[in-house]
Amino acid sequence: MLAHPRTGQEFDSPVPPGTGWPGDPATPQTPVAADAGQVVALSARADSMTELDAMVTVCRACPRLVSWREDVAVAKRRAFADQPYWGRPVPSFGSERPRLLIVGLAPAAHGANRTGRMFTGDRSGDQLYAALHRAGLVNQPTSVDAADGLRAKGFRIVAPVRCAPPANAPTPAERDTCWPWLNAEWRLVAEHVRVIVALGGFAWQVALRLPAASGMPKPRFGHAAVAELGSGVRLLGCYHPSQQNMFTGRLTPGMLDDIFAQAKKLAGIN
Ligand code: SF4
Repeated sequence: MLAHPRTGQEFDSPVPPGTGWPGDPATPQTPVAADAGQVVALSARADSMTELDAMVTVCRACPRLVSWREDVAVAKRRAFADQPYWGRPVPSFGSERPRLLIVGLAPAAHGANRTGRMFTGDRSGDQLYAALHRAGLVNQPTSVDAADGLRAKGFRIVAPVRCAPPANAPTPAERDTCWPWLNAEWRLVAEHVRVIVALGGFAWQVALRLPAASGMPKPRFGHAAVAELGSGVRLLGCYHPSQQNMFTGRLTPGMLDDIFAQAKKLAGIN
């Protein structure tokens, strides 16, 4: 057992559900999806975000990803050797009635897989939350851990694959197995969402699978590309704020600022 870096409470890695990790939505009684069919069945019956988040965070439907996320949680990176790792699927972060939905890719092995919050604890997240703060969409410029007091204003961050994959590369089968969780989440938030920001081409393709885009032509991903989906929802493309994209200057802080300024305007967030 190791102490959480902020709360000091001790946890095993991966963290057992319902043991007090900040923001853990699950309990030992939360039903566990053990295969793709059970993901379909359990996601279909979720009628609240709390229930959905809880079931997502105990899912074990992808054997390769379960092994990877848990092995990483035990082995750890040297810089975090004194910390417990969440080591479970990562729930979405933010408003339950979002006007803006931000779609990423998958948790990072030593970022969200460690902290239990989307985009938290790695360089991509540092860039993303700094930009969200400059846009006035969060109350503080950093997202360090799940107990740091970060609050979202009008947006929600989701991932099409909820477990950290080796080399940040989920397989098509893993993407498809995880899809019902996102589809169920869309069912719960759709009436509120006006804008979807897709962080990268993978997220763009996933967004085009949402019911809001059914029957539409499939526009190509591009940075700052805008597509009109059904019911007045707009899809906005943005390069992923990966370390590689930020380091090479393919994506700059100014470009992120432009995307979130446009997203806020289109979503009607003051
Ligand atoms: S990637 Fe999704 S479906 Fe697969 S184990 Fe993780 S939460 Fe479950």
